[in-house]
Amino acid sequence: MSERKVILVTGASRGIGRALAVAAGSSGYDTVINYRSSETEATKTVKIIQAAGGRALSLRGDVSERGDVTRVINGVVGALGRLDAVVNNAGIGEVIRREDLDQATFERAIRYNLLSAFLVSQAAIPHLQERGGRLIFLSSGAARTGGSISAAYAASKAGVEGLMHYYAINLRSDRITANAIAPSFVESDMINQLNLPDAATLPLGRLGRPDEMWPALRMILETEYLTGQTIHIDAGRYMT
Ligand code: NAP
Repeated sequence: MSERKVILVTGASRGIGRALAVAAGSSGYDTVINYRSSETEATKTVKIIQAAGGRALSLRGDVSERGDVTRVINGVVGALGRLDAVVNNAGIGEVIRREDLDQATFERAIRYNLLSAFLVSQAAIPHLQERGGRLIFLSSGAARTGGSISAAYAASKAGVEGLMHYYAINLRSDRITANAIAPSFVESDMINQLNLPDAATLPLGRLGRPDEMWPALRMILETEYLTGQTIHIDAGRYMT
């Protein structure tokens, strides 16, 4: 069996997920790129990692569907023999005003942002328990500030942090850590649909770059003594 660690990044065909997968894949992790529909982009992510000398493969699957999740996790372990870290990155951000927010839109946010993280984590944990491991969640400043996407999005991300806290406490004796990364205004397709604030009002006068999320992930991957934490990478828009 390979001694190289295996990391699964959900929603890694584009945006932050792609940047995290490329960085992990270029840093010695065998990397699995999950995506839902952007096959060409997922293949491109794999090729970027391979060109840097890394080992990567892509697996299609809607992470809000339990059957797809089972197939993806089995696919990872079947192809690479182990699973050491999971980045629950896949998510949606439908911009909608409070007065227009209906039940269907609210349920979509919970399904794609929160249920998906639960399904993937539950399926991954038995494999992580074999040697200890890492659960990572993409939260958002919106979990604490409300943010500018929707009430549904803010609620789903607050739920993600609750899930992370539960796992952090309950998986300590399995040497599995659970932590969240909370970005704000990072260049991506998701953020492009927003009425973005004037750059001059942003702390650094610019949006964040997806690759700027990697130092936080690297610290989480390398630090057994860190669990139950949310790391805000937002140039100081939100401070605890
Ligand atoms: P993005 O550019 O819209 O990319 C979303 C990714 O998720 C795509 O690869 C997409 O796959 C995938 N995806 C969505 N639903 C999926 C599903 N059900 N199953 C599998 N894959 C799915 O988003 P992003 O801005 O990079 O955001 C990534 C994460 O960071 C999200 O959780 C988001 O909430 C969080 N976040 C982002 C920001 C920001 O400023 N960008 C701020 C705070 C939090 P396909 O391409 O195949 O559709």
